Amino acid sequence: MNSDATNLAAWAATDEKSRGRRYTEAPPTFRGEFQRDRDRIIHSTAFRRLVYKTQVFVNHEGDLYRTRLTHSIEVAQIARTIARALQLNETLCEAICLAHDLGHTPFGHAGQDALNECMKSYGGFEHNLQSLRVVDELEERYAAFPGLNLTFETREGILKHCSLNNARQLGDVGERFLKREQPSLEAQIANLADEIAYNNHDLDDGLRAGLLTIDELREVPVFRRQHDVVLATYPEVSDRRLIHEVVRRMINYVVTDLIETSAAAIGEAAPADVDAVRQHSGSLIQFSDPVRTEHLELKRHLRDHVYRHYRVLRMTNKANTVISGLFETFFKRPELLPTEHFESARDLESQAGEAGRARAVADYIAGMTDRYAITEYERLFDPAKRS
Ligand code: MG
Repeated sequence: MNSDATNLAAWAATDEKSRGRRYTEAPPTFRGEFQRDRDRIIHSTAFRRLVYKTQVFVNHEGDLYRTRLTHSIEVAQIARTIARALQLNETLCEAICLAHDLGHTPFGHAGQDALNECMKSYGGFEHNLQSLRVVDELEERYAAFPGLNLTFETREGILKHCSLNNARQLGDVGERFLKREQPSLEAQIANLADEIAYNNHDLDDGLRAGLLTIDELREVPVFRRQHDVVLATYPEVSDRRLIHEVVRRMINYVVTDLIETSAAAIGEAAPADVDAVRQHSGSLIQFSDPVRTEHLELKRHLRDHVYRHYRVLRMTNKANTVISGLFETFFKRPELLPTEHFESARDLESQAGEAGRARAVADYIAGMTDRYAITEYERLFDPAKRS
């Protein structure tokens, strides 16, 4: 039974055309294959941890900031709207979005950069690849197989980027990077929905934190245009409602553009099916040129005013200290790792030498929430703290 198959375009991903799972399973009785993927993701341990992982602001800085969990849910919301409007597989889109950040380290991008630096001589660390590793290997929820045994299509969508070197080792999901093919349209949507979500919620959070000002934001055309409209329509509106109304309209503006531009591009390319989508020369999910420019301008403004603000940089700096302190200590003395992680360090080392040991340490650190990483750091380095 597949409740996803109604009203789908010929080029949508469907259960019938799925390339299947790594370990063969009987089809689900009451759900579609991608519903099953989504449900497995929701029940995973890594998904629950997202609530205590930083998007930009560390969890303890305030209760109202986005976390990786609320970020992932917002991405899924935006992607579902786009998928449905384009008659694509909404459930597959949702599954990809909910899983896309499962491999993220504690402390947001600062944590990813720090761990990548630690792993430089051992194959590096990349959160996309780690998200795939979480769903393929690290989750332990099924007696019959490691990981969540998701469909090829969900895994393909999770792996947004990948170096050619890594692609060669990844089997089926790595192939498209070697052949320079595209992923499904659902994966392309998830990718851009991620950018739309963080651009807009980081603006909202940046204002809330006092890192951004309305005056400076008015230098960004996509903001200024919506701000002018809202002020003209509701001159008496309170500041809080004003911001939310502007952000809401900004999201609507870029999403509408994305749907219309993509519908035209798909119409023109007229792919026969999802394989024709994969072989198309570029991404068919796209912004119009003017909106892409505006989208990038907002991104740049956020980079200069939020991600490089001294208060955010202090957090970045702390993240570096914590992650590199943990990594160096555990790599040198794996016997300090909790037993199950020590065992996987030993197993991976027997297969791949020092790079294997490093990978097990990186798996342990990447799985930590912000607060767990801080506590673990204190347990290792603060003599007053219980071990
Ligand atoms: Mg994301």
